[in-house]
This record gives sequence, structure tokens and C-alpha cells, in this order.
Amino acid sequence: MKTSIATVSISGELPEKLEAIARAGFDGVEIFENDFLAFDGSPRDVGKMARDLGLEITLFQPFRDFEGMPEPYRSRTFDRAERKFDIMQELGTDLVLVCSNVSPVALGGIDRAAADFRELGERAAKRGLKVGYEALAWGRHISDHRDAWEIVRRADHDNVGLILDSFHSLSRKIDINSIRSIPKDKIFIVQLADAPLIDMDLLYWSRHFRNMPGEGDLPVTDFTAAVAATGYDGYYSLEIFNDQFRGGSTRAIAADGHRSLIYLGDQVQRSLTGTDTAIVDQMPERAKVEGIGFVEFATDEKEAAELVALLHTLGFRKTAKHRTKEVTIYEQGTIRILINVDPVGFSKAAYAVHGTFAYALALVVDDAAAAHARALALDAEAFHQEVAEGELELPAIRGVGGGLIYFIDDKSPLGRFAEIDFEPATDEAAIVPAGLNLVDHVAQTVAYDEMLTWLLFYTSILETQKTPMVDIIDPSGVVRSQVVENASGSLRITMNGAENRRTLAGHFIAQKFGSGIQHLAFTTGDIFATAAALQKNGFTSLKISPNYYGDVEARFGLDPELTERLKADNILYDRDEHGEYFQLYSRTHGEGFFFEIVERRGYRGYGAPNAIFRIAALKKQMRPEGMPAR
Ligand code: MG
Ligand code: MG
Repeated sequence: MKTSIATVSISGELPEKLEAIARAGFDGVEIFENDFLAFDGSPRDVGKMARDLGLEITLFQPFRDFEGMPEPYRSRTFDRAERKFDIMQELGTDLVLVCSNVSPVALGGIDRAAADFRELGERAAKRGLKVGYEALAWGRHISDHRDAWEIVRRADHDNVGLILDSFHSLSRKIDINSIRSIPKDKIFIVQLADAPLIDMDLLYWSRHFRNMPGEGDLPVTDFTAAVAATGYDGYYSLEIFNDQFRGGSTRAIAADGHRSLIYLGDQVQRSLTGTDTAIVDQMPERAKVEGIGFVEFATDEKEAAELVALLHTLGFRKTAKHRTKEVTIYEQGTIRILINVDPVGFSKAAYAVHGTFAYALALVVDDAAAAHARALALDAEAFHQEVAEGELELPAIRGVGGGLIYFIDDKSPLGRFAEIDFEPATDEAAIVPAGLNLVDHVAQTVAYDEMLTWLLFYTSILETQKTPMVDIIDPSGVVRSQVVENASGSLRITMNGAENRRTLAGHFIAQKFGSGIQHLAFTTGDIFATAAALQKNGFTSLKISPNYYGDVEARFGLDPELTERLKADNILYDRDEHGEYFQLYSRTHGEGFFFEIVERRGYRGYGAPNAIFRIAALKKQMRPEGMPAR
């Protein structure tokens, strides 16, 4: 797949944008006329800068309001075109994008437009240039790629071709199978963008809400498959207008763009069984996650003692100690928590930056080597650390906010890491098991403008899907919550995106110097038995406001006896069409990390309606340590 991106898709000054685009691995770049406005160099300078970075300039745009103009506008339009051609030659690109006319003076008529393009093609040919025609979804007379294609067909000129843009076709729900019959050599370039489904004016939607393929809700994969079916082997170019992207990190957005194209190419390739069109390099399928192998905390001796005390009250016991490092395993059911206080290595560095931090997550997958290979094919950054002779090196990549993701499996020795790298240890603590058996979900707090980055990261590498975004009202602002999960529920990651630091999630990010795991939820088969065991262990649950219980009893028509039991143990309750949900929270540890215990009786959600009560309770607990009351 030849990859390209329009400079408008990302933020920054032009040199910074080009550098980020090249670094992300793109082959080409679209240059917008506006790029010259804020930049002091000439088109020649811009062209040189791009080529020095190894980027081809895939096109120059836009050329607006061209076809179907009456005189005297028509002559002036051709004069304008000649000036654009001058810039293109200086820039060093041979393709200009002409978008369909939106001018109120434009005249309709397919043949009139075709004649204009034929003449433009003649003029372009004299300079060795090409003209591509794109139907804007809001064009005055041409708003459908099928009509644009008919104009190109009738113009019948080698230097005139069609430009397809997924947003313009998909936003108007145009049958994309109509693309399959267009000759591939008449498709000059293909622009791609996705968008969330929002019912709004097409122009506004396009200018502000486009996002990367896979981040939105449009069938961009089907669109691209239709293009690929023609045998098209030219550039796929991202053209994303999004206010959030233009405010975001230049490098991160460019990297997301490249990942989104590779992922798209992989999906399209898998849908084209039986063809020989290779779009991207072969890579393993999305990894099937069977469970969470372990969660590892980076900490130091002193804070480890506090964390271990908390784990003890939750019924965890020390079961093993690393043979050569200061790492201990605490276990309950199938849950493994690793506490790493090793004075050297990545964990130490993570602790130095973030404080006590659940910095690593091990995913049990069907094939760890394949999962790792796929992650790397999708631009994930590999992580390596020295291991002692005879010890395993778990395949790893960098994850959210300075954390790590390890892949382990049962088909290789990796699944036995706890026996190979560790020796058994006993725990003398006088505690009772609390019936916790699985990691239910991992809750990560991320900066709001990183949410789509991580969504794309997880969904492209792992066999998961996203659920619709929901807004959680923190008393100090809105927190966006998005879930990535697999069908079996063996992987559930909730991501909370915080816009301001007065929210609990925002406070966490500010204190932790970055995104990360803010809470871990474990399952129990009997929340009341667990609550009783926790009490014996001296666990202090998060105190929930008594007002909550009056509300929940009325909302769900609960038996007052049940309400009393919930209240006595600070258990939160929710229900959906599939069943009931019970939640119990720990107090926070350190800068806002906490544990959650849940019992699912068929319920599929995450207790979003309870979040406001939980957040209020956590803030109340944290306030003495300097948390603002608002
Ligand atoms: Mg476009
Ligand atoms: Mg939760």
C-alpha cells in the first residue's frame, strides 16, 4: 500500500508536519495551498524539504469552482488554473485536485463540465501535469462520484482522471459497488477518512469530525475493498479535517494515521479472498486474548509494603518470588499481581517517573509470537529488557502512557513463566481468601486527545470491538468513557478520557505524569460472601453516600432488605436487560489508584450510572490530601 496523508490532517508548522509524516512511515504527502500561507519558503523549498525526507508530493490542492462557469468567469478560471500549474511545477508534483464546483453562478450539464475538463487536460498535458476531479458531497451540481466519473469519462483525456474520497461517497450513502467498474488507470488518487455517525450538515461534519479509518463508524473497509477490486495500486491518502487532531500531538497523530492505513489494508486484504492483489505485507490475524496473565506494579520497598497490605486485605497471597529480580507474585483465583521493586530496569524507571504504577499488563493470547509480530507490523514499539540466563524474555510492546504490554501463551514455555522465572514462596499473613477469581476489567485513564490513539491501538492489534462512547459526569466536568472488549469478555479495557484536571481522571493524569491503569476490577461469584471475607481481613471499602441507596431502591424497585445489605457493605448496584451487577470499591492507594470487585449476574456493562457516586466518594476520601472540593 502506497501511503500518503494531507498536511491539513495534523497540527504544527509545515517543517514539523513533514518530519512527523516521514517519521511515521508515509511514502507521500498532499500539499495544501494554505501550507504556503504560514510558511516563509517558496513552493520549491517545500518540494525540496519533502523530497529530502523521502516523501513524494502526491498532489496539490485545492482547485475550487472550476467546471461549468459562464463567461467571463470561465476565462478567469482557466487563468487561475495556469497559476496553480506554475506552483505545481515548482513544488514538483504532477497532480492537482479539482473539487466539484460550489459556486452559485456555476451552470450544470455533464457535457459542459466534460468539455471544460477536456480543455484543462490539454493545458495540463503541455506541462506534463494531470488533473483529478473529486465530487464534494455538497457540490452544487456534482455531489456523487458516479457523476464525476461520467464527466471524466466524457472528457476522454489521458491527463484527466477521477479522485475518490471515502467521506464524500460514504457520507451520502452512495452505493460503493459503483466504484468496481471504474478502470483503475482513471482513478488518479484515493483519499480516505472515517467519521463518527452524527446527523449534521455534511460540510460541517466533514470539516470538523473526520477521523482515521477505524476510528469512526463509516464502512471505509468496504469502500477500500471496492477500490482494490479495480486493481488500483496507487496512493491511499488520508485527508482528515478534525479540530482535535489539529490541536493534538503532531507525531502521535501522524503515527495513528499510518497505523490506520496499514490496519485498513490488512482488513481489505482479508476480505479479498481469492485475488492476488497484495495491499500490505502479510501479517498474523488480530490476537485472540484469552485472559489477563498478570498485572505488574512498579514501586519501591516502602510503597510496596502499603500495596501488599492492601492486597492482603483483598485476600491475595504471595505465591512466588523471582529467581534473580526483586519481583514477587501475589495470587488469588486466576489473578496474578506482580510487585516489582527491582532497583534496575524499566520498572525502576517507570516508578521514578510515575510513582507506584500498574505499568505492565500481560495478555494471554493464542500465539504470543504472532501477536507480537502483528503489533510490530502495526507500528507498535517493541520493548526489550535483559534477562538472566535460562529466564524467559516475554515478547513486549510499549502500551498506554509509558506502560508495557506483554504477550504470553500456553503453546510455548511463556505460559509457564511463573515456574521458570520464579520460585515458590509462602505468605505468613493471617488472611482469608475473598473469592476473587478473574480480572474483570482494566480501567485506563488517558488524556482525552489520546483516546482515539489507544482505541485504534487495541482494536487493530487485538480481536476486540469498541462500544459506543458514553459521557460520565464527574462533579468537576465530563469524562468520556469508551470500552474495548472481546466477545467472550476475557478482555475488557475501559478508557476514561479526561479533559480537565479537576475531574478525578484528570487529577490522576496530572499526578501520574501520564495516562495509565487507574483501577483494576476483579470478579467474584458472590459479592456478599466476598464482602464478609474482606471485613475479616480488615479491608476498608469506599464509603458510599447513604442517599445513593434510597435512589437505587426507588430506581430499580429493590427489596428494602437487599438495599440494607448493599448499604451495609458499600455495594453499588446496576441492572441492564441481561442481568444484575454489584460493585464494591477499595479506597484509593497513592495518587488515585483503586481496586474494584464486581459480581456479574449476566450484566454486560460497567456500572456507568454509578460512576458519579463512586467519583464523589473517592473525592471525599482524597480531599484531605489536597484535592479541590469542586
Ligand atoms: Mg477530499
Ligand atoms: Mg470499573
